[in-house]
Amino acid sequence: MPSFVTHLEGAIDGARLAADRVQTLHEDRPIWVRYDLDAVGRALAKPMLRERPPTLWRYRELLPVRDDAAITSLGEGMSPLLPAPRLGARLGASNLWIKDESQLPTGSFKSRGLAMAISMARQFGIRRVALPTAGNAGGAAAAYAARAGIECFVFMPDDTPAINQYECRLAGARTFLVNGLITDCGRIVREGKERMGWFDLSTLKEPYRIEGKKTMGLELAEQLDWRLPDVILYPTGGGTGLVGMWKAFAELAALGWLGSDKRPRMVAVQSDGCAPIVRAFERGDRHAEPFPGAATIASGIRVPAAVGDFMILDAVRESGGTAVAVEEGRIREWMELAVSTEGIAVCPEAAACVGALEKLLATGWIRADEQVVLFNTGAAQKYPEAIACELPRIDISGPIDWEAVAVQR
Ligand SMILES: *Cc1c(COP(=O)(O)O)cnc(C)c1O
Repeated sequence: MPSFVTHLEGAIDGARLAADRVQTLHEDRPIWVRYDLDAVGRALAKPMLRERPPTLWRYRELLPVRDDAAITSLGEGMSPLLPAPRLGARLGASNLWIKDESQLPTGSFKSRGLAMAISMARQFGIRRVALPTAGNAGGAAAAYAARAGIECFVFMPDDTPAINQYECRLAGARTFLVNGLITDCGRIVREGKERMGWFDLSTLKEPYRIEGKKTMGLELAEQLDWRLPDVILYPTGGGTGLVGMWKAFAELAALGWLGSDKRPRMVAVQSDGCAPIVRAFERGDRHAEPFPGAATIASGIRVPAAVGDFMILDAVRESGGTAVAVEEGRIREWMELAVSTEGIAVCPEAAACVGALEKLLATGWIRADEQVVLFNTGAAQKYPEAIACELPRIDISGPIDWEAVAVQR
C-alpha cells in the first residue's frame, strides 16, 4: 500500500517538516499530517469502501501508515450512529443522533488515536513509549502497546477512575499514580525522556493520534451518505477528537466527496469544573490560560491546559460553532437521563454534551429540527465511581416482601 502523506506541517506557523522521521512538537506546538489529496482522489472512490472491513483502516489512503506490518489493530472503528428519539423528545430535539464510541476496544474512542500512534511508533522502530493520561488514553495505550510488543509507561492522577488504573496494569503497562493533575503527569513524561529513553505519546505531542481520531469524522460522513449534520456536540479535553474531525471534513471537501458545502457547527463541551477552552472562547482569545483547580467526574475532559488550544478554538470558530460549560453538579443526572431513555452506555463526558444540548436548545442556538450528533466518547461502565448507587436488598431468610418490590422504581 503506498502512503499518500506528502509532509508534516507545524500547526502554529505552517512550516514544512519531513514525514519520514520521528517528529514530536514544532515550536512547542502540534504538527499536522498532510496528504496528496489529488492522488488519494485518483486511488480511492466511494464504492471501493463498501468492499472493505468495517474498521477505521478502511480509510487507509487518508491514514499515515506506510508499512502494513506495523498496523496494530484490535478491530477498531465503525462505531454505530444511533438515533436517539426518546432522549431527543425529552430535551426537545427531533433529529438527535449518538455516535457510540463506547463500543470501541478498551471502551472509548481513545483506541482510534492510539491504534494510529502505536502503529506509527512501531513503523519507526520505537520500543518504549510513555504518556500522561486522564484515564482512557492510558488504557488504550497499554492495550495497543501490548498488541505491538512495545513497552509502555503510564502516569495518571491518583484520583483517576479505578478501572483506568487497573486496565493499564492488566495490559502490562508500567503504571504510576501521581499526586497532581494530568499536566503534572505530562511533566514527568517530558523530564524522563532522556533518562528513560521513551517516546512521548502525549496528546498532540506526536502527529498521528489526530489522524486516528479523524476517522470519527470520516465514518460519520460515510454513515450519513456524505452529508454532514448541522451540529456536533463533542466533550473536549485535549481536543484531538474535535480537531481531528474538523480536519477530516476539510479533507473530504477537498476530495469533492461531500454532498454540499455545509459543515457542522462544532460545539466544544466542558464542565464548569474545568473549562479553559470555554473561557478562552468567550474572551475571544486564541490560547487558553491554565484552568485553576480543575475538577470534574468527567475525567476525560479534566484537562486544565491543552497544547492544541488554538487548534480547538480555530476549528470551533471556523465552523460557526461555540464552546459551552455545563454545571458539574448535574452531570450524573444527564448521564442517567441518557442511559435510561436510550440504553446507550453514555459516559460522564458525553453526559456533559446532553447538558450542553439542553442549554443550547433553551437559548435557541440549536433549533428543535436541526440534525444534531452527540459523541458518546466512552462507556459508562468505565466509571464505577460516577455510577455507584445503593440498591434495595431482598432477604431470602423469610417470605419475599412483594410490596417492597412493587413500589421500587
Ligand atoms: C479523552 C476523552 C475525551 C476528550 O477527548 P479529546 O479528544 O482529547 O478532547 C472525552 N471523553 C472521553 C471519554 C475521553 O476519554
